[in-house]
Amino acid sequence: MPSPPSPAQAGYRPRSAHNALKDIVEENLEDLFRLWDERFSKDLGPLHPRVGKLLEAFLRCGDSHFGFLRLRCECGCEKLVPFSCKSRGPCPSCSKKRALVWAERMVEEVLPEVPYVQIVFTIPKILRKAFLFDRSLLGELSKVAYAATKEFLAEHFPALEDPLCAMVVVPQSFGGLVNFHPHLHACLSLGVFDSKGAFHPLPDSFDFSPLVELFRERTFQMLLAKEKVTPERVAMLRTWKHSGFQVLSERRVQAHDRKGLESLLQYMERSPIFLDRLSYLDDGRVLYRGNYHPTLGRDHQLVCAVEFLALLVPHIALKYEVTIRTYGAVSTTIRKRLGWIGKEERGKTQAPKQVLVVDAEESEFVKVRRRNWARLIKKVWLDDPTLCPRCGKEMKVIAAICSPGQDDVIEKILRARGEWDPPWKRRRPARGPPPAGPCQALTRLDVELARNARVTADDDNVHFADPPHRDDDWLDEPEGCWPGEISET
Ligand SMILES: [Zn+2]
Ligand SMILES: [Zn+2]
Repeated sequence: MPSPPSPAQAGYRPRSAHNALKDIVEENLEDLFRLWDERFSKDLGPLHPRVGKLLEAFLRCGDSHFGFLRLRCECGCEKLVPFSCKSRGPCPSCSKKRALVWAERMVEEVLPEVPYVQIVFTIPKILRKAFLFDRSLLGELSKVAYAATKEFLAEHFPALEDPLCAMVVVPQSFGGLVNFHPHLHACLSLGVFDSKGAFHPLPDSFDFSPLVELFRERTFQMLLAKEKVTPERVAMLRTWKHSGFQVLSERRVQAHDRKGLESLLQYMERSPIFLDRLSYLDDGRVLYRGNYHPTLGRDHQLVCAVEFLALLVPHIALKYEVTIRTYGAVSTTIRKRLGWIGKEERGKTQAPKQVLVVDAEESEFVKVRRRNWARLIKKVWLDDPTLCPRCGKEMKVIAAICSPGQDDVIEKILRARGEWDPPWKRRRPARGPPPAGPCQALTRLDVELARNARVTADDDNVHFADPPHRDDDWLDEPEGCWPGEISET
């Protein structure tokens, strides 16, 4: 494999400030707000004001017209590094960086060196709509998945008192076609820890399929307690031969395969949108390609741009709404009890090498992330933005130029460098009207999912017209993306 170009050869390659998603947001954000109440609120609920703020921040991300750090090298070379929005959700580039730093920290500092298994927990379509308007349910579902798994594994180790697994749960709200599909990805130790922290492995071929029964029952209990489902509906769902609940555990990562583990975690924490699958067509529609979706009966979305944005809105993670959780032997409490943290060297913990485990508190995570931003950019683009493109030495930050307070300075500097081409003055292609007839509206599935936050008895006929069937939505996962790289801008 050829070695990557040195920074001096390649220079910092900032991602292009343009991409199809930015064009779509830039040209349609106003329409999204204008049309939301009339066209989308009935199915998708009210539009949270922070969604607009996050999308605007995404538009400014990586674009030096909205501010930059000015770096200078002792050799006289100067360069500008634009700011990132650092958001989770709408920005594929920052989402990827977040995923990288998080996965790296989990592997280096938290997850002990034991084998792992990836488990995907899915729920039947009929229950998913409740998750659209009440995002806290994804957190509740994470707790359910852990409790069920803990109970399930304890049965296999009757001689151990309170055996604990190590489990990281990442809730995802999207399927491969940006459709609303709340489900959970979990990375679980293939075995349990006893009270002394010793690891008791399970065989590679261990069958997790019976776990689905516990997961199903505990999910029913949680939804009933929160009055998100009626007892009648639960009774009916219990009679289904194929319940629509699934617990899939196909991917194993060996204890020594730490790169494989990191790659799995990156995949679990990916962005809802892959930019290389997205096209903004000249007629104003958006084409998003994915894998074949058995329920939708197609492998793409082809919708008006504003409808595409509406599809994206439910997946824009608002602060604290959808959070990654660590349970069992990787929770902070247990790690402290087992002595896995506390013996910190220079403020850094290390994942136990022998038989053991860890939790990410947001504040700590944010600190680590900030510290590592330049290094992470390097990991993504091979180059370090703080290195001089001419001599390769570390450059010094001489100023941070921010918008809107220093817009005049920004314009002056960019004009002097011949880089003044602000997006608000950029000529955009005239997009023709969409073909005659309505755009493909929100998909049948999405409308069906979105219609009611609360399951009611009178829509039974809608859902029961089709015989209960095995739900294959999990096939949404773009299989080619794991364990390889997350696709990028
Ligand atoms: Zn960003
Ligand atoms: Zn230099």
